[in-house]
Amino acid sequence: MTESFAFEPRNAAECMEVLQQDTLVPRGLGRSYADQATNDQHYVAVCTKMNYFMAWDEANGILECQSGTSLEEIINTFGPKGWLPMICPGTKFVTIGGAIANDIHGKAHHIDGSFVNCVLSFTIMLADGRILTASRTENEDLFWANFGGLGLLGVILTAKIKLRKIETTYFRQKSMVIKDLDHMLEAVTKYDETFNYSVAWIDALATGKKLGSGVLTLGNAAKLNELPEKLKADPLKLHATSKLFVPFFLPSFVLNGLTVRMMNKVIAFVQNSPKDFVHYEKFFFPLDAINNWNRGYGKRGFIQYQFVIPEANGRQNLKEILELIAASGCRPFLNVFKKMGEGQGILSFPFKGYTLAIDFPVSRELHAFTPKLDEKVLSAGGRLYLGKDGMLTAAMFRAMYPQYEQWLAVKRKYDPHDRFSSNIGRRLELSARS
Ligand SMILES: Cc1cc2nc3c(=O)[nH]c(=O)nc-3n(C[C@H](O)[C@H](O)[C@H](O)COP(=O)(O)OP(=O)(O)OC[C@H]3O[C@@H](n4cnc5c(N)ncnc54)[C@H](O)[C@@H]3O)c2cc1C
Repeated sequence: MTESFAFEPRNAAECMEVLQQDTLVPRGLGRSYADQATNDQHYVAVCTKMNYFMAWDEANGILECQSGTSLEEIINTFGPKGWLPMICPGTKFVTIGGAIANDIHGKAHHIDGSFVNCVLSFTIMLADGRILTASRTENEDLFWANFGGLGLLGVILTAKIKLRKIETTYFRQKSMVIKDLDHMLEAVTKYDETFNYSVAWIDALATGKKLGSGVLTLGNAAKLNELPEKLKADPLKLHATSKLFVPFFLPSFVLNGLTVRMMNKVIAFVQNSPKDFVHYEKFFFPLDAINNWNRGYGKRGFIQYQFVIPEANGRQNLKEILELIAASGCRPFLNVFKKMGEGQGILSFPFKGYTLAIDFPVSRELHAFTPKLDEKVLSAGGRLYLGKDGMLTAAMFRAMYPQYEQWLAVKRKYDPHDRFSSNIGRRLELSARS
């Protein structure tokens, strides 16, 4: 349980006013999974009112907007004009500030890389009130340290980002049932060459010969001439806002071994969709269709544990990790697997290798289990995604991100007195004084 003082600034001056009294951390739509955008007993600047579009260069597809603008707002405005964000995570309810601070990635990471690849520059308010522009050629250290910088270097105010030209808001999709881990690794390697979007659901309860089995979903943006006649009538259609929701927290006993197994079968069936063309909404953001979906995990909630490990010895390491999870008794629920491309920002999560994101309902066993999993991931040469982590220790973080000293040097330069501070910053000792 944590309590912070939230305020909703409309500009840099309002952030500065608070910063002169106390520490703060910026926050977007709060879609990171743990303590990234909280600041116990101190301030949180909820930036969602800083959400104006400032300039649009149609010829080059470059949008300048305030940092509290969400991907949803961008899609709703620019989708019908034939443009979508270049990098889409699994939800559209994220702001540009949040997307930069976690250097988010999507299903096309192996082709498009992470969010940094669509950002030309941003402006940021620093601890001393200066507003600087950061880009690949101006204040480069500040630029690279903010991708994965968890809001601990300043308040990002505006950004220039590149959108992607599209002919339709549909995707040509192909799904296939995967029988085991060898099949999975062979399929992702083979199809990542021909499909820009690729993600797999893995049945993390499967063991023995079925270890690593699941469903691989692949896709490419659909061109206008490929669409079936009935979709051609409105090729840039937007999706209506979903009215489905989970009305209350489900009791924890609902997620027992049996129901998780049954749900895994349902997910496998739904994922293996026979539909050739799917709308971007279903393709990118399936969970957005159910408001308050997190209530399904009960009041104790869940953690999402996402790691990436190198390709070298990847098969053996994945096998051991999946066996460890299946034997843990921790009831892994939604497990998303993908092959990643190269990473870039100083503390950005991705690097070339295999990533697996697992939802675990919070339980007593889980607290004892994740440190074991951390050790295994580390020994495989891997690391956790800080945008989702809620349990890593400072020592384990430093072992997983040995480049942390390089980031701390930037922190000491721009925020020597730790005016920007947060719960995760304290937990992982991401402080100028450490
Ligand atoms: C259903 C779901 C699916 C997801 N799928 C993916 C996925 O596929 N890939 C992926 O990478 N992530 C994914 N995420 C995580 C999500 O994309 C990131 O956590 C993202 O950063 C959330 O953005 P936000 O606006 O909600 O930021 P918040 O959660 O509010 O904040 C995240 C971080 O950004 C910082 N921040 C926010 N605004 C600013 C600002 N103006 N200036 C400086 N720092 C700022 C905060 O301090 C914090 O450290 C998913 C999350 C959910 C809930």
